[in-house]
Amino acid sequence: MESVRFHALREVLTRKPLEVSLPSVKASDYFGENVFTRRKMQEYLSKEAFIHVIDAIETGSKIDRRIANQIASGMKAWAIERGATHYTHWFHPLNGNTAEKHDAFFDLTEDGEIIENFSGSLLVQQEPDASSFPNGGIRNTFEARGYTAWDPSSPAFVIDHTLCIPTIFVSYTGEALDYKTPLLKSLNALDKAAVNICQYFDKNVNKVISTLGWEQEYFLVDEALYQARPDLVLTGRTLMGHASAKDQQLEDNYFGSIPSRVAAFMRDFEIEALRLGIPVKTRHNEVAPNQFECAPVFEEANLAVDHNQLLMDVMERVAIKHKFRVLLHEKPYAGINGSGKHNNWSMMTNTGVNLLAPGKTPKSNTQFLAFLVSTIRAVHKHADLLRASIALPGNRHRLGANEAPPSIISVFLGKHLTHVLEDLEKRISSKKMSPDEKAELKLDIGKIPEILLDNTDRNRTSPFAFTGNRFEFRAVGSSANCASPMISLVSAVTEQLMCFGNEVEKLVQKNVKRDEAILQVIRKFAVDSIPVLFEGNGYGDGWKTEAEKRGLTNITNVPEALVAFLSKSTKELFGKQGVLSERELEARYEIRLENYVKKIQIEARVLGDIAVNHIIPTAINYQNVLIENVKGLQGLIPNNEFYDVGGFQLQTIKKISEHLFLIRTKVDEMREERKKANAEQSVEEKAGLYLKNVQPCLDQIRRHIDKLELIVDDRLWPMPKYRELLFVN
Ligand code: ADP
Ligand code: MG
Repeated sequence: MESVRFHALREVLTRKPLEVSLPSVKASDYFGENVFTRRKMQEYLSKEAFIHVIDAIETGSKIDRRIANQIASGMKAWAIERGATHYTHWFHPLNGNTAEKHDAFFDLTEDGEIIENFSGSLLVQQEPDASSFPNGGIRNTFEARGYTAWDPSSPAFVIDHTLCIPTIFVSYTGEALDYKTPLLKSLNALDKAAVNICQYFDKNVNKVISTLGWEQEYFLVDEALYQARPDLVLTGRTLMGHASAKDQQLEDNYFGSIPSRVAAFMRDFEIEALRLGIPVKTRHNEVAPNQFECAPVFEEANLAVDHNQLLMDVMERVAIKHKFRVLLHEKPYAGINGSGKHNNWSMMTNTGVNLLAPGKTPKSNTQFLAFLVSTIRAVHKHADLLRASIALPGNRHRLGANEAPPSIISVFLGKHLTHVLEDLEKRISSKKMSPDEKAELKLDIGKIPEILLDNTDRNRTSPFAFTGNRFEFRAVGSSANCASPMISLVSAVTEQLMCFGNEVEKLVQKNVKRDEAILQVIRKFAVDSIPVLFEGNGYGDGWKTEAEKRGLTNITNVPEALVAFLSKSTKELFGKQGVLSERELEARYEIRLENYVKKIQIEARVLGDIAVNHIIPTAINYQNVLIENVKGLQGLIPNNEFYDVGGFQLQTIKKISEHLFLIRTKVDEMREERKKANAEQSVEEKAGLYLKNVQPCLDQIRRHIDKLELIVDDRLWPMPKYRELLFVN
């Protein structure tokens, strides 16, 4: 019988690109057609309902029952026209996925008739039995109810005949069980703090939003090859596989031409995304073979987060149609680049000013500097929290592996801007400045945009880099929910903006003029943040030593990184802003730690099975072939001084035995270590043991399997090899 591997390879050879026809050459003809946009609200809602919903979106005002009924009926009418038969509350539970429970748009009446029904109360709130979502001990088992509540700021959409209503998800006792609840709270807090600072510069500013543009990296693999790899199916990454002789050494993939099957897939999911109002714009090949990237135009952060979650979902569905699988794991293959999700972040005022872009006047540039130094100081102060916010089991393979930023959180500004800050440090002092000095300083601050114009130095090795008009948080993993890093970043910046305002007011009370006080605080913030600024090569070992001298932490494993969720400064940060309570933080810590344990446990089980059921028997089969061969040779050719008959075969037989022995021993050891770890009551102890004793076994077992792959007859090898997974499509 043909092996699964060869069957899969044969399948791949028969593949052809799917025909994908564009609905229209102009994306504007179909952009957002599956979204209940403001324009459609205007069309389907009464004037009264429309005004209420816009007010709710813009100011967070409550919607009463009567208006909710009106909105629900308009939304239903629109959704049914788009082909929807069902509706669902769509939310982001803490398992990292999105959740939905579909209900049909009808009810049974008492006399058994069906009537279409979708009331305001069904739109606004539901009580899903959510006992199977992670809750970190928040929800008692006897009270399994959770609430989902409509988030009008993210528009409803229709996908697969279902009207999806973005919602938050909280426990019966009111604690957040999702990402969206704290995200919305943090964005709100930033709005207030940022407006206060903007008021120093422009009285017309009354709202500040966070903007987020993510870049999603991913791998594609053919469906048949994927199915032939239990490790990919069950863990999202390969747990074994020898490096392909050629992979990314020649760097010939980056921005290379896109293979036709892949291009068809991209076009297809982009159409789907555009219909859902996700403004995907950029696509290209990434560094590793079969690795790609997709990026939209940035949007308001809450919407951008929803859109990223939705896009990952759309990609997975469309890929299956094209007989591909999308790998969103941070490190599907050892030895080549993994995937990240850069989070480009900035803040924008209602007057259309990007607060992280230098402006045209000294005044607007001073404002820019105020936001810039507040962000840097925030990253410095809460580096460990930011590190925790991106700590996923998959991301651990990537950070610091010469392909992604290290685990040390630092900020890259580029030499010009660094110079500007250094200059400010020298020129501003707490002594009163002379009018001349002030004028000169203003003139220099006014020159910032020109300085930045030729700011071509870009540093790919920094986890948090300024890129001209925004910061780019690069350490985020490809499978992550962007809300996690955003909540931490936004809250940390809010804290510093509040602090900035307080410091200015303190100086003003001491009779310092306000504009001078602002400059002094900018200077203070810049000076405080010097240790976190780093322009050099983040991949180099030198940086580790240097970072340690500067007091920056370098946390390389997940359990240790997560501890920052429980630190005093984190609790204070989120507590003061009302973003997350201590209980919610503890729950999040526990959920993520448990997730780490489960992921490693699954990987260990899968690799154990692969080793024992696939690899060991295969190697034994080949060893038997060699044994037969040696036996057959005996007496056939006499040994002579040049030639040791059967010697090479015997050596190979011995080598195979050694690897087999070590694999078997390690698999047994790994199982014993798991048992010991599982017996621990506390999840902390458990995670510690998984980290120390189970995780290392994975690498050790793999090493021997990969050695065997080089020895065993290619025809016998049971699973697609790296060269096939990476190059066949
Ligand atoms: P690169 O790979 O050079 O970083 P990309 O074009 O791939 O550039 O991605 C840049 C991302 O940054 C895009 O999603 C873009 O919309 C986003 N972006 C640009 N300006 C802002 C901003 N002010 N706020 C947030 N994101 C932004
Ligand atoms: Mg980028």
